[in-house]
Amino acid sequence: MHALDITDLVKVYDDGTTALGGLSLTVPDGGFHGLLGPNGSGKSTLIGIVAGLVRGPVGHVRVFGHDAVADPRRARTLVGLAPQEVHLDRFLTAREVLMFHGRYFGMRKAEAAERADELLDAFDLGGKASTRPNRLSGGMRRRLLIARALVHRPRLAILDEPTAGVDLELRRDLWTYLERLREEQRTAILLTTHYLEEAETLCDDVSIIRDGRIVAAGTAAGIIARYGGPRLEDAYLRVMRGAAAEAGT
Ligand code: ADP
Repeated sequence: MHALDITDLVKVYDDGTTALGGLSLTVPDGGFHGLLGPNGSGKSTLIGIVAGLVRGPVGHVRVFGHDAVADPRRARTLVGLAPQEVHLDRFLTAREVLMFHGRYFGMRKAEAAERADELLDAFDLGGKASTRPNRLSGGMRRRLLIARALVHRPRLAILDEPTAGVDLELRRDLWTYLERLREEQRTAILLTTHYLEEAETLCDDVSIIRDGRIVAAGTAAGIIARYGGPRLEDAYLRVMRGAAAEAGT
């Protein structure tokens, strides 16, 4: 069964904007999928639908076989979202941030505490359990945000630009955690990023989206072979130029 199975997904916002114009993609169980595309291409809308936050799409979205359009609540429990913007409650400690999330998803207090400690350990935040998020370094805050997404043991983690705006060293450091996340937590991952090198390094497959449609998909090597490299970045730019020429924009 696929972690995520999307077919012909259309989302038109109330003001008439078509954010997704018939998009299909699948992420296998345990897969690491990169979603690439310029601003405004529909990535957040797609993520919002899968996470049950954006309502009223048309099409099929199945998260481990559960219909996320008809029953967004059930799908939500299977999904862990690490959002782009960091809104961590500054009155809670790092450990409390994780525990609260667990309680929100119906975990008993002892269970949430145990899971919080486990994740603090896994993300090397054990020494920061009593620290408030605004006192953590930028890299630690990103790790806490990813850890928070995993508290309720989702089978699919959605990471929305987890390394945006961090320096190269820190980004490389975060990659190690993302690799570990897949291996140790056995979670399928949907990642959005503007760093093509990141997608090339981490992801099994990528989808390149533009104007709410997939314009290229496959392994990074496959896309490079088809559109020309040497790097995914080069192929990406060619895909975008080709799509723009075709759309006449
Ligand atoms: P991305 O995450 O790739 O930047 P979005 O999903 O945010 O793309 O946006 C896709 C399109 O939908 C854009 O044209 C954007 O302006 C539009 N859009 C996003 N959210 C809304 C909204 N709440 N109401 C109307 N249009 C929206």
